[in-house]
Amino acid sequence: MAVGKESKHAMQSGRMMQSYVFLSPGVTSLETKRIPTPGPLEALVKVELTSISANDLNIVRGVFPVTSGLTLGHEAVGVIEELGELVSEYEVGQRVLVSATSSCGQCSPCLSGNGAHCRGMLGGWRLGRTTDGAQAEFLRVPYAEVNLTPLPDSISSEAALLLPETASIGFAAAERGGVELGDNVAVFGQGAVGLCATLGAKLRGAAQIIVVDKLSSRLDLASKFGATTGILSGPSLVKQILKLTRGAGVDVAIEAHGEPRTFESAMKVIRPAGTVSCIGVFTSALTIAEQSFNSGLGNHTVVNTLCPGGKARMERLIRLVESKRIDLAPLVTHRLPFNEIASAYEMLMEGQEDVVKIVLQVSEP
Ligand SMILES: [Zn+2]
Repeated sequence: MAVGKESKHAMQSGRMMQSYVFLSPGVTSLETKRIPTPGPLEALVKVELTSISANDLNIVRGVFPVTSGLTLGHEAVGVIEELGELVSEYEVGQRVLVSATSSCGQCSPCLSGNGAHCRGMLGGWRLGRTTDGAQAEFLRVPYAEVNLTPLPDSISSEAALLLPETASIGFAAAERGGVELGDNVAVFGQGAVGLCATLGAKLRGAAQIIVVDKLSSRLDLASKFGATTGILSGPSLVKQILKLTRGAGVDVAIEAHGEPRTFESAMKVIRPAGTVSCIGVFTSALTIAEQSFNSGLGNHTVVNTLCPGGKARMERLIRLVESKRIDLAPLVTHRLPFNEIASAYEMLMEGQEDVVKIVLQVSEP
């Protein structure tokens, strides 16, 4: 078997692939790179589908500094092309879901359930940030046994593609916010991840789910994910949310927009001892007004979360699709071939109203 692997290495060493790379803030390019060789604990995955997340856009904008020439992306479904010599219980040819954050499964953060921060703050966010990412024909997956999950035949690749990032972080907003049966929840921001936070609140049994966005089309879409009331962003939104809870305030407010003023609104609408759960990426300093912090006496909880990953998490998310408890299909608004990835980035950067998630077909199944 080892001989087979080596000969495959040799065969691939000269093979090239297309990768979408970051060059400098605002500058990206579809380039040719050598197909990587997996290390002992890694796997090489032939990417079938990939997508673009808000954090890819943040990298391109220069919010998260990365090395010039790095391949972008951390969402992928594909087929195992090659396995490192120490990876067992997987087979070449198996269709797999790749975890968006890649934990080692052995360090203290990983062993205490914080694999997204593997070996240090944000450390599990490797793909497309510290190692070459998923927007390429082939992807080298670190710690393959922890971060690859076989997909059952009953689930299409597209139905699984948005689980590792969009769904995992969106649902985590509701989980980390401690949404309970019968809760009143407000969700600020109905982008793809915010919509999944809405769905997460529904799955956790929230009674009233009030969603806020600047686009009425997103409020309409949110109703398919469990929203009970939609409010357009505006100066009266705090009043409107408080009125919907008869002045009491919501149990949990989810911030999925990443703006200081949205965070401030979230603080203003929670009840005493309520929770603000943040999944938006803040790119400027947060301040909390004394009134919304109740002079520090409000028994409030503020949590934030980086996308949970790993095989156990992916298996749970796959089960939700298999049992038809969730259907993320309405999030996919566009499908493009991989060679049109630059146009896909442009559509997302421009914030076109009808664009939620774009599925990029990298190879045929
Ligand atoms: Zn770790």
